[in-house]
Amino acid sequence: MTRFAEWRHCPRCAAALETGPWQHDGTDVLHCPVCGLVIYDNPAPTASALVMRDGLLLLTRRAREPFAGWWDLPGGFVEPLETPQHAVRRELLEETGLEVTVGALVGVFPDRYGEDAPSTLNLFYEATVAAGEQRAADDVSEIGWQPPGEIDPAQLAFACCREALATIVRKS
Ligand SMILES: [Zn+2]
Repeated sequence: MTRFAEWRHCPRCAAALETGPWQHDGTDVLHCPVCGLVIYDNPAPTASALVMRDGLLLLTRRAREPFAGWWDLPGGFVEPLETPQHAVRRELLEETGLEVTVGALVGVFPDRYGEDAPSTLNLFYEATVAAGEQRAADDVSEIGWQPPGEIDPAQLAFACCREALATIVRKS
């Protein structure tokens, strides 16, 4: 299932879309045989933070679907021409009121944005709090701090978050 599975018509010229060999390598892709538009099913990049303070990891509770009410690692989708580190700082400020310093890359994990949803490529960075006043905002309903080793992975919304958590627990 791709995010374009239900697309029937070209968004540029309105002709019927087809799936079949189109590119020079013969890969089957959804494309418009009339105007040549190719519908690439590339994953959407996201950037998130593993913010540590006094041995505790910052978690955010999701206010919206998918996974409303579940714990999450704070972050979000990267905007065009934005660096993932900037996306982390922007999202953390929006969601938690905290200004963070972004450190090393923890890992990159592919996932989906919910069941049967578009694919995502998820970058996770170490981070520390530099300034700001903590408050849950935007699409976050609650903020929590927990020792990473005591977090039940089953409480986390996305498989990519569980992989990122497991990576830092292994390292600590
Ligand atoms: Zn077209």
